[in-house]
Amino acid sequence: MNIIKSDYILTIDDEFRIIKNGAVAYEKKIIEISSSFQELKQKYPQAEITECEKDSVLMPGFVNAHIHLEFSKNRTTLEYGDFLPWLYSVIEKREELIDGCSSECYEETIEEMLEFGITSFGAISSYGFDMNSCAKAKQKVVFFNEVIGSNPAAIDGFFTDFKARVNSSEELKSETFFPAVAIHSAYSVHPVLVRHVLKIARENRYRVSTHFMESKAEREWLDRSQGEFKQFFKDFLKIEKASSDPISFLGLFESLEPIFVHAVYANEEELAIIEKQKAHIVHCPVSNRLLGSRPLNLENIKSKEIPFLIATDGLSSNFSTNMFKEMRAALMQQSCLDLHLLSRDLLIAATKNSANALGLNCGSIEEGKDADFAVFKLPNSVENEKNLPLQLILHSNRADSVYILGEKIF
Ligand SMILES: [Zn+2]
Repeated sequence: MNIIKSDYILTIDDEFRIIKNGAVAYEKKIIEISSSFQELKQKYPQAEITECEKDSVLMPGFVNAHIHLEFSKNRTTLEYGDFLPWLYSVIEKREELIDGCSSECYEETIEEMLEFGITSFGAISSYGFDMNSCAKAKQKVVFFNEVIGSNPAAIDGFFTDFKARVNSSEELKSETFFPAVAIHSAYSVHPVLVRHVLKIARENRYRVSTHFMESKAEREWLDRSQGEFKQFFKDFLKIEKASSDPISFLGLFESLEPIFVHAVYANEEELAIIEKQKAHIVHCPVSNRLLGSRPLNLENIKSKEIPFLIATDGLSSNFSTNMFKEMRAALMQQSCLDLHLLSRDLLIAATKNSANALGLNCGSIEEGKDADFAVFKLPNSVENEKNLPLQLILHSNRADSVYILGEKIF
């Protein structure tokens, strides 16, 4: 048994309780939360005690639900500003970036995420090169084996390769490593292939993720087989027409409670389906800005029963995997939303909502949840608790310490 005491405990429970001078008793899971450190010590006299430094915030570790580790090598290589030029640069530099990133490079990114207080993440893996590094990670990893392929003649080959990766990830399954599946997008995966893959997801109860309506080009291609993707598909695949329309694509995900990434250009009809499916939307403000998307209409998403998550996306469309930087970007981008309420919502998005979407038993400090914590030290005290979420987002970077399943990782 262990007890950790902190000046502030940000529980992220349903009441968004912030406990001042509180303490948490835990083993692998959280046993008890108390506003009296003394009482808790008396109740568990054998417990090992940790007292966090003054002005520390103890909170659930972050859950970064969407990252592409295989592109971790990118810093200044890719072209930003618009989606298609970026995509062309990814295709042109793919080998250089992928070959340049070995297990050491994945592990550096994973280790740095730990330092940022990220105790779980959802890795979107295109090739499976990052599989062993993810299985070895100290964090919990939901490993999304991604499928891509729009050429109907090559579906069997894509599916065989996908199944082999899923089987390899099944062999590595553990207390902290969970196989899952990702469909790249509606425009890049043939509907027959989507059906095959989602059948496997249903049979194995895998979590499912897909990029959806990330760019204006995707909107125009899926709606009318027009726009910037027209030339792209003609040049690369000799395809003249989109193989899927957005509504039938969404329909394929029924009963899977999927994770839709971006949804920046999703319309009302599509959002109604997403809501009905009890699906989740991942907001990646930095990635959207760098790839020339408009800002997500978060006010509209919040008016519906659609839980939103915040994630960094990969280093192919971000300069950092730091969740605080991502939340600060959202704070600045979503300027029509109340600053304090948005700060609260972003912290919920980065912890509880993301854990729920990934099917993990963490993301809040509540009895019975896994003891996954991050501790951040504020520069000074915050007198009014109302200001704590905002000040935490503005002034934090690296965690002082991180705990996963009750074990201190650093
Ligand atoms: Zn992505």
